[in-house]
Amino acid sequence: MRVIRTVGELREWSRAARKAGQSVGLVPTMGALHAGHISLVRAAKVSCDVVAASIFVNPTQFGPNEDFARYPRTFDEDCALLEAEGVDVVFAPDAEEIYPEGAATFVEVTGLSERLDGKSRPGHFRGVATVVAKLFIAAEPDRAFFGQKDAAQVAVLRRTVADLRLPVELVVCPIVREPDGLALSSRNRYLSTEERRQARVLSRALHAVETQIASGERSARALIDVAVAEFSREPQVGIDYVTAVDWATLLPVETVASGTLFAVAAFVGTTRLIDNFVVA
Ligand code: AMP
Repeated sequence: MRVIRTVGELREWSRAARKAGQSVGLVPTMGALHAGHISLVRAAKVSCDVVAASIFVNPTQFGPNEDFARYPRTFDEDCALLEAEGVDVVFAPDAEEIYPEGAATFVEVTGLSERLDGKSRPGHFRGVATVVAKLFIAAEPDRAFFGQKDAAQVAVLRRTVADLRLPVELVVCPIVREPDGLALSSRNRYLSTEERRQARVLSRALHAVETQIASGERSARALIDVAVAEFSREPQVGIDYVTAVDWATLLPVETVASGTLFAVAAFVGTTRLIDNFVVA
């Protein structure tokens, strides 16, 4: 497995692969890898001839009071995991390589970027869209793999790819969970034992909503109430949002239907966690 640090080398590698008739897959990550990330890598391995995973803790997607400085960085373990999965290239640039001195060019997806996580994390999706566009321009992948766990991010990136007519297919992979339902996240490692217990409320709330939908409830208001009631059983957990939205526009719906995104975000201690499901 080759570790590449510069955009130039990554582009050279990708172009050589294409020239040899191979399809290129890209899995963007911020490292601190877990089984959720590995599921993306496996999906990439299945449908692409060669696969690059990027590891870059992107400063521009963190707010001033967020966890950029303490975000877990486990590069050696990450590389061992990726190598065991048969990844061909790890792209691990430093911040200078992605944001050269004086960098002033950003990708802003207006509207969408202010919804869901973008509402409580101003500037977050501008940072995400910018770094992912830069990765696409550098790696020129045929396909790029993302988790449904970050469903609003998927909406923002679909819009970016459509608007810039980027020649890449976005592949969205299912949420990987702990046996008790908690969605895997690099941030789960911040949780104390008690917070880890409390964190189960996110998937429990979603499960309660799914059960109601299965028994015929379609009113978004009623379903949101079901989720909020489940959250109230864990009063230490602070709700950021509980919402039913159109997955493309991230605008609230009144009636849920097939394809509606039901999403939650909550603070467990100081750790902000997210989870969701898409109505079948
Ligand atoms: P991150 O390193 O947090 O930026 O995540 C990198 C990619 O992994 C994103 O596309 C995430 O949506 C995806 N991902 C994170 N957690 C999970 C999970 N539990 N299941 C599936 N994909 C995930």
